[in-house]
Amino acid sequence: MSQFRFCPVCAAPLEPRVLKTGEPMRLVCTGPTCGFVFYLDPKLAVGTIVRMPDGGIVLARRAIEPGFGQWVFPGGYVDRGEEVRLAALREAREEAGIEIAIDGLVGIYSYPGTAAVIIVYSAAWAGGVLTMDDESSEIRTFAPDALPWDEMAFPSTRDALRDYLAGRRAH
Ligand SMILES: [Zn+2]
Repeated sequence: MSQFRFCPVCAAPLEPRVLKTGEPMRLVCTGPTCGFVFYLDPKLAVGTIVRMPDGGIVLARRAIEPGFGQWVFPGGYVDRGEEVRLAALREAREEAGIEIAIDGLVGIYSYPGTAAVIIVYSAAWAGGVLTMDDESSEIRTFAPDALPWDEMAFPSTRDALRDYLAGRRAH
């Protein structure tokens, strides 16, 4: 069921049990008095589709797994207690070296069997020079009609860019 074997509270073994009919099995502590239930929650991520002044969209080529060698827009996991929009600004700064101005919500993406839920914003460049970090091997802009559709890192990358372009055409 998962890679977690021991209770984080009392260190007794965890055991998958049905707690409520119709719900997934939960990892429950087998300690005599603990009762801890290890809920495996979704993992929240945020990404941003950033337009540069020339109209190009910022993508970075990943130098790490998953998605090694493929393209993704700036983004990453939201820290617990962190405001999602501020996480988007932080990731753009860390992964692309730029300041951005968020101007819309593109969508929220989730997939069966996958822990990540990805919130994707659209934004305009607001300062700084495109600079990659050590998780990328290349960063550049792509014209909206020349995106590397066959080399997208994640389903959410492809789906969000498709929704973004469809929204732009609709206005
Ligand atoms: Zn326990």
